[in-house]
Amino acid sequence: MTIVFSDKFNEHVITPDHPESPRRLEAIYDSLTKAGLWKNVLTPKDATMKELEAVHTLDYLSFLDKFGERALSIDTLVHKETFSIARLAAGGGIMAAEAAWKKEKPAIALVRPPGHHAGPQFGGGFCYLNNIAIAAKQVLHTAKKVAIVDIDVHHGNGTQQIFHHDPQVLYISTHQRYIYPGTGDPDDFGIGEGKGFTVNVPMMSGAGDSSFDFAYDKIVLPILSEYRPEMLLVSIGTDAHYRDPLASLTLSSNGFAREVSSLLDFAKRNCNNRIAFFLEGGYDLESLSEIITHTVGLFNGKNTPLKNVAIADAGCQELESLKSIVQMQKIYWKL
Ligand SMILES: [Zn+2]
Repeated sequence: MTIVFSDKFNEHVITPDHPESPRRLEAIYDSLTKAGLWKNVLTPKDATMKELEAVHTLDYLSFLDKFGERALSIDTLVHKETFSIARLAAGGGIMAAEAAWKKEKPAIALVRPPGHHAGPQFGGGFCYLNNIAIAAKQVLHTAKKVAIVDIDVHHGNGTQQIFHHDPQVLYISTHQRYIYPGTGDPDDFGIGEGKGFTVNVPMMSGAGDSSFDFAYDKIVLPILSEYRPEMLLVSIGTDAHYRDPLASLTLSSNGFAREVSSLLDFAKRNCNNRIAFFLEGGYDLESLSEIITHTVGLFNGKNTPLKNVAIADAGCQELESLKSIVQMQKIYWKL
């Protein structure tokens, strides 16, 4: 297993009281250290312009590089140092994906800023460069098909747009409906040759463990099995947790552990254990650090304890809606 991390990520401060803060990686570092899991840590290098240009337009990259002290949106400011730290985060994502590919073992990019809201020529939602998409493009130099699973509570509009017409990248997202960024409807299947390779599974406020279990058992895992990716990339935001202050799904830490473990299991059986995780959102430090620590523990066959395990959704709140998503997906997949 591999962890990719740099202290430099903590120099990225959007505003002093911003939820996407250095405290997030500090809490993860403390928790992994206490669990004896802070090992095999690689230090990333900057993504090259060529690697960035595989995903983002030159105009957008120049904007980030040359125009410090601007705002992409009210909560996503660009400071002088932002581009260089975002470039390092993108390089960290590439490093994690390459390590997982070569060593055939799970890897995790503990990076900031996050990336899944950044599209070809836009950023937003605390994201500047799309780390997971940039890494996926590099993997595609060798692999023919990869899958991205996005468990962050927000829809990864940037990732979706980058691969919307691309059958070589299957994008599957579970997310809360009607919150930022507002995209990710279940009938958005992709476009052109990419039709069928975007799978959106939105859920309403309150949805948690049993709804996620149904979504993974009946939609996410069967579609992954049918697609047969050579590698799995995972956008791991922990903001679908019930403690998270920015959203209102109710997944527990045990729920996260089950879904993460099912993805690890899938990759072991079907992708030569090639699976890389990329840190996205997650703003409650306690659930964030215990879920990430548990995930890294699972790489090592170690079950670290979880405290925030209350179950709010035991009766599959989303059952009818998820069944209708299964029906819709039957156009493309044998569900
Ligand atoms: Zn998020």
